Amino acid sequence: MIDLSTLTIVSAREALKAKKFSAKELTQACIDAIKTKDKDIRAFLEVFDNALIQADFADKKIAEGIDLPLLGIPVALKDNMLVANHHASAGSKILENFISPYDSTAVKKLQEAGAIIIGRTNCDEFAMGSSTENSAYGVTKNPIDISRVPGGSSGGSAAAVAAGMVLASYGSDTGGSIRQPAAFCGVVGFKPTYGRVSRSGLIAMASSLDQIGPFAKTAEDAEILYNVVKGHDAMDSTTIADNTYSKDKQFNKTIGVPRAFVESEGITKEVKENLEATIAKFKALGYTVKDVDLSHLKYSLAVYYILMPAEVSSNLARFDGVKYGLHVDGANGIEDYFKSRGQGFGRETRRRVILGTYILSSGYYDAYYGTALTMKKMITDELRKAFKDVDLILTPTTPTPAFKFGEKSDPLSMYLADIFTVPANISGCPSISLPSGFASVEGKQLPLGIQLTADLGREDNLFAASKEFGNEVK
Ligand code: GLN
Repeated sequence: MIDLSTLTIVSAREALKAKKFSAKELTQACIDAIKTKDKDIRAFLEVFDNALIQADFADKKIAEGIDLPLLGIPVALKDNMLVANHHASAGSKILENFISPYDSTAVKKLQEAGAIIIGRTNCDEFAMGSSTENSAYGVTKNPIDISRVPGGSSGGSAAAVAAGMVLASYGSDTGGSIRQPAAFCGVVGFKPTYGRVSRSGLIAMASSLDQIGPFAKTAEDAEILYNVVKGHDAMDSTTIADNTYSKDKQFNKTIGVPRAFVESEGITKEVKENLEATIAKFKALGYTVKDVDLSHLKYSLAVYYILMPAEVSSNLARFDGVKYGLHVDGANGIEDYFKSRGQGFGRETRRRVILGTYILSSGYYDAYYGTALTMKKMITDELRKAFKDVDLILTPTTPTPAFKFGEKSDPLSMYLADIFTVPANISGCPSISLPSGFASVEGKQLPLGIQLTADLGREDNLFAASKEFGNEVK
């Protein structure tokens, strides 16, 4: 019996090499776990029917003595990452019948690293949401408490790892969509520096903010998963090389806490206590923890809700009922367009398209979009200045533990779930959520996450501290 709940990529690779089990047995164990557990959780939209064939192929390579970082490891992908000849719908009805003609760069790299692409996971439509309640294919439930959301938008990928259905998965993070669900489900979630992972073949939400990143049980595994997909890519002109940002500054084990920001934003008592416990743990590990003044951080969410919908409205213009996806006939071309988009997009997507179109309309462009861009620069400069003094910034990942389905019915309260995660997207900085304890709510132990953010290109510092912090799912 393979125990998926404790197995990590590191331990699975050792077991595969030692022939304790085969890639096929491991993949079959994942498929069996999905069959039994996913009836309740609904993390997966599809398990690929060639998963076992991929596993056979991996077993042949293992038998030949080939050693690759993910050889024989099944991974799940968020439904917005393209895999050739497979469906990808980004959780939207408009792409229900879309089959990708090509592999995303991340998928190509995963295949080169020997990974088995086991299937695609549920997400909020076009990655817009914080709860996976916006998917056209139904909700995903939090494996720790199925009356609660798994977070979002990559809720399916987080739940799949947390429930022990796979060892690893990928999601995308535009404003927190990897870190927030990781925190809600009690797993590790990592967003790389903007440009470190190619977005070629990732269905776009807001291109200046989107990054692909991993979910795993440990920071060590997350680092392996990141290393496999990172790198400059000719297919994405925003990708950067390893040496784009200087790594000259030495790691001094110094952490900054933006006190005023953390304490002003309606965080629950348990989250506050958990932050203090985390600070104490880092101090015990020999870190210096000090307060830092980051007075612009509080504007991040406002900036995000200007820049993101503006880019969403532009990116989603391609769904016109002609080029791809759903087509609904109307009396004429323009009515086709209205009907296809009206019926193909869900409420939240339509809200953001309308908001973004307004923001970009002549007369408002400078007032909203222009101002937000200026603020983006100020937030980034302030953060980068802080990194001259400290190596990492520490905050909770979310202001509360996982909430219940339907609890946040007005969009603004939902948007506040991302208060701590969006600064890393606005600035492009790498950021990780680590399981840091539990909040006792209504007799359940709900996971909490702590977030570490590093300077641009300093994933090395982030992983060094994360690994020291210790991050096994408890
Ligand atoms: N929850 C945020 C939103 O709704 C972030 C989404 C994301 O990171 N993809 O926009």
